[in-house]
Amino acid sequence: MRAAVFHAAHDIRVEQVADPGAPGPGEVLLKPFWCGVCGTDLHEYAMGPIVIPDAPHALTGAQAPQILGHEFSAEVLEVGAGVADVKAGDRVSVMPLLSCGTCYYCRRALNHLCQRMGCIGLSFAWGGIAELAIVPATNVSVLPESVSDLQGALVEPGAVAAYGVDTANVRPGDTVLITGAGPIGALAALYSASIGANVYLSEVNPFRAELARGLDVGEVLDPSSIDVPAFLKDATGGIGVDAVIECSGNERALQAAIASVRSAGRISQTGLHTKAASIDPMVLSEHDITLAGTWCYPVTDWPRIIDLVARGRYPVEKVVTAQVAMNDVVAGFDTLLSPRGDQVKVLIHAE
Ligand SMILES: [Zn+2]
Ligand SMILES: [Zn+2]
Repeated sequence: MRAAVFHAAHDIRVEQVADPGAPGPGEVLLKPFWCGVCGTDLHEYAMGPIVIPDAPHALTGAQAPQILGHEFSAEVLEVGAGVADVKAGDRVSVMPLLSCGTCYYCRRALNHLCQRMGCIGLSFAWGGIAELAIVPATNVSVLPESVSDLQGALVEPGAVAAYGVDTANVRPGDTVLITGAGPIGALAALYSASIGANVYLSEVNPFRAELARGLDVGEVLDPSSIDVPAFLKDATGGIGVDAVIECSGNERALQAAIASVRSAGRISQTGLHTKAASIDPMVLSEHDITLAGTWCYPVTDWPRIIDLVARGRYPVEKVVTAQVAMNDVVAGFDTLLSPRGDQVKVLIHAE
């Protein structure tokens, strides 16, 4: 079969690899439909291997070369022994995290913090940018008719964004600032709107700002031309926003988040910072502000996210800006890394 395989930084090849064969007990054989390219994939491409192991992974034994793709939807082709709740022909979305089930965190149902965590498409034998993949049956959720194949590939980033918003305790009627309108920021805006929040987005990149306006969920502010905290204080009678979802991984955005949130407000740090950022912790103290990090999502969130998408409340497909064939995967990575930043979410068709 053909697959997009990471060999080293700037060396991803679409090449022939061995078929996965028949699924073992508890496993399913999948034919991926669509697979999203994520920031993690881009980091691997630009400067990897980082998450991709260069020695056998503690949980899965996998190591580079690695078939990429961890945000995908697929058709079930075959199920292994003992698999009862999924059948051939079902369309599914894959929850890619693999956890040991026995460590400190797994025993407390915090599987996304597993000490031996692996991930399909990053540290596992198979991935979603391939003609076929085998995954544990417990990692797939069946998609109802009303969720498209394309939407099914967006449940994973949709869950990341939802966890960021949920961690900031956003409630109906709250005013929320989302900093950064990349894929996670755009999804966080859609999710916040779906639960009845009043949304503001800040984004410097004009292409991304335009996409954010097209989401039609709230006002988009350009932090390079306006003072975002001052604007929001003004818009909220001098109080500040109830919550901020920091999705840019940018120091100035985090500073703006702290300056924009009201007393006893909450900030969730959902974007990944690649270097240290300077903040004034005294402001957190004086104003009773909670700053909370989020990592991935609760692994049990798929049915809930799929249901929100199915009912039209969470139109995750709106963040997609390009759909490309597997052969063009490297071009897709290059466009996402281009300084123009005119793409938000690129989906790869696995055929
Ligand atoms: Zn990802
Ligand atoms: Zn564990």
